[in-house]
Amino acid sequence: MKRYTAIVLAGGAGKRMGGTVHKQYLQLAGKPVIYYALRAFEESRVTDIVLVTGEGETEYCRREIIEPYGLQRIRAVVEGGRERYHSVQKGLLAAHGADYVLIHDGVRPFVTTDIIHRSMECVRQHGACIAGIPVKDTIKRVGAEGFVEETPERSVLWQIQTPQTFSFSLISEAYRRISGQEERMITDDAMVVEQTMGMRVKVIEGSYRNIKLTTPEDLIVAEAFLAQER
Ligand code: C5P
Repeated sequence: MKRYTAIVLAGGAGKRMGGTVHKQYLQLAGKPVIYYALRAFEESRVTDIVLVTGEGETEYCRREIIEPYGLQRIRAVVEGGRERYHSVQKGLLAAHGADYVLIHDGVRPFVTTDIIHRSMECVRQHGACIAGIPVKDTIKRVGAEGFVEETPERSVLWQIQTPQTFSFSLISEAYRRISGQEERMITDDAMVVEQTMGMRVKVIEGSYRNIKLTTPEDLIVAEAFLAQER
């Protein structure tokens, strides 16, 4: 049996959300945002889950989220780091022994077991697999002066989500190779693999609902999705 570990990230400060409570702990239909992603992985076929929290927040997560909601498959709760990729590196250390890891933003509450299971199938074949959706808007590259520099053809553009799923040895080696060059902007895990391992990353269809809660209006959309489910 292959071992699949989900690394759920909740180590961010969520500055773009405003307010004092970190966005992963805000209440959504009466439950903390982070609960929803954890539940999706609990209900899936993953082997276990590593939860990565902010500094000094591991006890809070155990007391307020893991125990009250009876989450059974959390193998470790570890503190993250300053940037997202630092948190991923901490999560990878706690995931040792896994064959594959599914790295997920804890602020994407609408990931489904279907996306998780398709990611698990895809990674066995391709070693690196990410969820995404075709963009709806036209995307332009805009220069520092505020003028358009390029309009890439929309039909080839995808908006990338999580989970991002990798063979454990591949992603661990990729992160090992970037250590020391962290001044680069690293916004997802796949780019670490693309840039260091020269490897092709497969994209599977995520969902337009698998949004990342980033700004206050995203919470309104999330509440509407949940109201529809009730
Ligand atoms: O900031 P951003 O929206 O890209 O964060 C994506 C995910 O990464 C969130 O779930 C956030 O909690 C997590 N994160 C983290 N450690 C950081 C920064 C972000 O775990 N230092």
